[in-house]
Amino acid sequence: MMEKPIYMDYQATTPCDRRVLEAMLPYFCEDFGNSGSTSHILGERAEEAVEKARTQVASLIKADRSEIIFTSGATESNNLAIQGGARFHREKGNRIITCAIEHKCVLETCYGLKKEGFDVVVLPVLRNGVVDVEMLEKSINDQTILVSLMAVNNEIGVIQPLDEISSICRRHGVLFHTDAAQAVGKIEVDASKADLMSISGHKIYGPKGVGALYVRKNPQVKLTPLFFGGGQEQRLRSGTLPVPLCVGLGTACEICEREMANESERLTEYKNYFMEKILGSLEEVYLNGDREFRIPGCLNFSFRGIEGEGIMLGMKDVCVSSGSACTSASLESSYVLEALSIDEDLAHSSLRIGLGRFTTFEEVDYVSSKIIEVVNRLRKMSPIWTKGG
Ligand SMILES: *Cc1c(COP(=O)(O)O)cnc(C)c1O
Repeated sequence: MMEKPIYMDYQATTPCDRRVLEAMLPYFCEDFGNSGSTSHILGERAEEAVEKARTQVASLIKADRSEIIFTSGATESNNLAIQGGARFHREKGNRIITCAIEHKCVLETCYGLKKEGFDVVVLPVLRNGVVDVEMLEKSINDQTILVSLMAVNNEIGVIQPLDEISSICRRHGVLFHTDAAQAVGKIEVDASKADLMSISGHKIYGPKGVGALYVRKNPQVKLTPLFFGGGQEQRLRSGTLPVPLCVGLGTACEICEREMANESERLTEYKNYFMEKILGSLEEVYLNGDREFRIPGCLNFSFRGIEGEGIMLGMKDVCVSSGSACTSASLESSYVLEALSIDEDLAHSSLRIGLGRFTTFEEVDYVSSKIIEVVNRLRKMSPIWTKGG
């Protein structure tokens, strides 16, 4: 029945929207100018395109276009924000606060800084995946220079209380960076809540290899660049801008701004249908992450007694993601689920389902039925599964 694989892994990446691709194409072979070479018409056209894109990105997060720095993706944006912020403010103090369920590119950046003598505090999260804000306030001391907490988690889809976090940081005069790669384009995001905000192109139907960092202007947030060169992007990110990619990111943001409300409504319906069907048809299945504070397109379940990988093998025409990263020797469970204090057994049995722009109701219905069928079959065969856990 299903010849084309069904894609339900929208947190890993999204397909490029055809409208985005169309907007990008002229900037490869026709209007291929360097946006820095504005002494001639092709350079001018490239610059105009880049500035239009910058305005589109800024508009989606309610920022000013002068506050948008183009990067290669959220990984680079996070590195620039955290390393750049930490290094620039080293004189003021050395404490950086983050949390246990951040993306690896935030955690590893912080661990790298720890080796250089920074004092890194990794906050725990509550069982629902929401960061412990009381612990945040308690962890801020007079040495604290930066707080980096994500807007939405990529494994469980939980939305963090940015308002609260933001006001705590303001009150203590600490820089607040948020990795918003999974939030922008999916929920309303207001950049003014943060001082630094990371965005990724390929999570919002744009191309891979481009992203942005919002850097607050009033008051101006100062960063030390990661690398040096021609001084592009307000000297924060040297290197010739990839004009087609910038245009792609801008167009992707514009489409999100226009279509987000409708898309979110549709995906919320699909998500609820999927969730209720799974939870209502199977015993010992748990939704990971808060039921309410989550983005529309992300579900994460644990199925007692079954490996997530096993479910995936049972439905090879469906692209989803399992919490356990199967390495050759060992099955390692997800550090995110571990941080929610989910028992190891359940952490191994998780499945992340990502719905998005091109998901249809037929697919939602098919995949949810397929999961129920596979789980029932695997449990019947399992020597350790007994009814009721
Ligand atoms: C995907 C993702 C990243 C990395 O983004 P890239 O653009 O692929 O570098 C960082 N943080 C979160 C939350 C993500 O989902």
